[in-house]
Amino acid sequence: MKFFFISLTVLYVVLRIIFTLLDRKGGKTPEKESLALKYFSKEDLEKAKEYHDRGFRASVARKIISFVFPPVFFFSGFSVYLLNVLHPFSFGYLTIQGAIFILSYFILEFLLNLPFQYYFSFALEHKFGFSNMTVKDWIIYTLKQFSVSAFLNIILISAAYLTFRKTGANWVWFIPLVLLAFELIFTFLYPYIFLPLFYKKSNFEQGEYTAPIFEVAEKSGIKLKKLFQINESKYSKHTNAFFTGFGPEKSIYIFDTLVKNNSPEEVASVVAHEAGHWKHHHVLKGIALGFFGSFIIAWLVALTFPLFAGNLLVSNFEGLPLLSFILTIYTFFTAPLDSFISRKMEVTADTYELASTGKREVFISSMVRLAKDNKSYLYTNDFLTFWFASHPPMLKRIQMALDFDFRGTTEKK
Ligand SMILES: [Zn+2]
Repeated sequence: MKFFFISLTVLYVVLRIIFTLLDRKGGKTPEKESLALKYFSKEDLEKAKEYHDRGFRASVARKIISFVFPPVFFFSGFSVYLLNVLHPFSFGYLTIQGAIFILSYFILEFLLNLPFQYYFSFALEHKFGFSNMTVKDWIIYTLKQFSVSAFLNIILISAAYLTFRKTGANWVWFIPLVLLAFELIFTFLYPYIFLPLFYKKSNFEQGEYTAPIFEVAEKSGIKLKKLFQINESKYSKHTNAFFTGFGPEKSIYIFDTLVKNNSPEEVASVVAHEAGHWKHHHVLKGIALGFFGSFIIAWLVALTFPLFAGNLLVSNFEGLPLLSFILTIYTFFTAPLDSFISRKMEVTADTYELASTGKREVFISSMVRLAKDNKSYLYTNDFLTFWFASHPPMLKRIQMALDFDFRGTTEKK
């Protein structure tokens, strides 16, 4: 087993290097190019390539840090040293000791990543005209984001350690339940607690846009209670829309950027895609699959951790970086399955969008708009798509719409 995990780690490094080379090379083919040139200008494509290439070096550096940081932290003995240094501040409570240790771990990781974070979410975004933030906005946003994610992580990881301590060797069976509970609570609370921390929401008052959205919702069997608009334009030009609420009674949140850049028909088409996810129970299916996946991962971690942990138990806080490293390796190898399921769901939602709106041209124009607004690199490498992509490549989605057969659906175009 020890040999197995070490081989897997070596394979991880080799694959990461291969992926880096493939990413650099891209996946341009004559077929892809001729389809792309039907909808995009040469200049669009060049700009998108430049955006992709500039992000490239910084993303490699960031991946190396996130791979090297946890094992160095653990095997150098720094983990044990830090826990001892923090000991006097815990007042004899294990939970407090754990919380400050986890917090310190995240602060160090955050500081190491900060230059790259700055490059990605500020410098690069500004260079390409995505970001509307000033430096001050960016600092506030980054600190807020870090605090929220550190807070959630501390609660989640503390709950995991409590489970390790209370359930002994049976933790493998209980941890997936704890994760499931968190996921359900988070999904439920997100619009009420976390969304308001970052966005201002207001009632959606965009006359001409409202009727087509209601029409789409009604057709899908959704009872729309409220339409909200949120101010993504404060941060970026990226566009989105999503439903919240259980059952058929829903509220919809629409990014102001989506309305700014798209026609009412295009926005309705995007909403139909989201309705497709709901119709096919994708959120619930995703949570259920994640639940079963976490059993397998927990079992692998339980087998691997003791081999490298010396005399530490999984319930000792010092082992956190090792746990995190083991998770990085295993989840890398389960990524293709996750991506495959996610892409399948996206195809289903796209199909639903086309069938329910009956409008091929609107589907394509909203895709093209999306790709232009995000400066999406269109010639992604097929192998990278297979391993990582949550959505089918943009050109594939456009081709799917071109090939879509409207016979048997309600409306025709
Ligand atoms: Zn989708």
